[in-house]
Amino acid sequence: MYSEKAKKNADACRFCWMCRHLCPVQLVTGKETNTPRAKGLQVSMEERGFQMDAAAAKTMYECLLCGSCTNDCVTGFEPPVFIREGRSQAIVNDLAPDCVLRVVEKEQKTGNIYGEEKCKVNLQGVPEKGDTLVWLGATARYSVPETAEALLSLFKKAGVNVAVLANEPASGSALGDLMGFVEDVRTEAKKAGEAIAASGAKKLVVLDSYDAALFRHEYKDWGVELPEVVTATTFVDELVKAGKLTPKQEKQMVTYHDGSRLARDLDEHQPARDLLAAMGCELHEMFLNRRLSRCCGSAVFGQYMPELRTQIAQNRWKDAQRTEAKLLVAACPQSTEAFSSTVPDGYQYMDLFVMLNKQC
Ligand code: SF4
Ligand code: SF4
Repeated sequence: MYSEKAKKNADACRFCWMCRHLCPVQLVTGKETNTPRAKGLQVSMEERGFQMDAAAAKTMYECLLCGSCTNDCVTGFEPPVFIREGRSQAIVNDLAPDCVLRVVEKEQKTGNIYGEEKCKVNLQGVPEKGDTLVWLGATARYSVPETAEALLSLFKKAGVNVAVLANEPASGSALGDLMGFVEDVRTEAKKAGEAIAASGAKKLVVLDSYDAALFRHEYKDWGVELPEVVTATTFVDELVKAGKLTPKQEKQMVTYHDGSRLARDLDEHQPARDLLAAMGCELHEMFLNRRLSRCCGSAVFGQYMPELRTQIAQNRWKDAQRTEAKLLVAACPQSTEAFSSTVPDGYQYMDLFVMLNKQC
């Protein structure tokens, strides 16, 4: 059963088809079922007696939950709301694709979608308690540790004492994307909230935008208390503006990719651009920037549909290639994971914090 909110969203469409050209998954697959509206129609059909089958369940997973469709819809139609619920139905009815179930199993066994037991970030000498706790997230800890190490190095250079949990638990963001916001996800959130509270932190600096969006929105809805939540981009930008970090000026042309959750769920666009300006960069914007940004493919999606995630990241590279810049920069570890494995010939990718750390 879908919630009233999901049903209302699924029935809200006015068939203007303005969303049709926006979906990064549909653009790559060319499948009509991957238009945001078609997913809404599927939910409406299910509400009218159509039984979800394995193919319909798979369709629900061919989505990045990126919110590009929501951003442009005149009716305020929000596909991620009912797509998440569609995933809950798929799991409950034993219809979720095997590739998804394998990732769910890894996440539930190890607390991360990579199935890794040991954090790859060097946390030697970093305390676990303190006023400022840095939340690294699973992608930085297990897939692209250089992003977390660059961030921690910047704090050291700025003279800011930070804490990191050696055994950072899952935030619930990955499981929430895989299963919808079911009880298991709220249990993860509660445990993460307790671990954060035990650190004594008054401020939570969050590196991964997927975690930051969940902390800011769903944790509040679920009654999980957190200290002040600040994105890593905002926090580091404030350090530069306060004169605690002084990057070397290197005049180079760059283009910047706005990660979906940072740009749309958190509505944050400027701090990363200000950091690039502080490094002397000449910014060449992609046509789809800020709230209009096109998703590069999430880490969760990369785990269960890796070939499709590669094509989606390559498609975003094409947007970058339409600018004059040869260097693409992004600020979320999940973007770094997607872009760094798909760099076209003659181009370069850099994580924002890695770049800043090199210039400080
Ligand atoms: S933009 Fe909104 S109203 Fe228009 S077709 Fe898409 S979902 Fe329907
Ligand atoms: S949330 Fe993103 S990937 Fe999913 S239907 Fe909307 S535009 Fe497509």
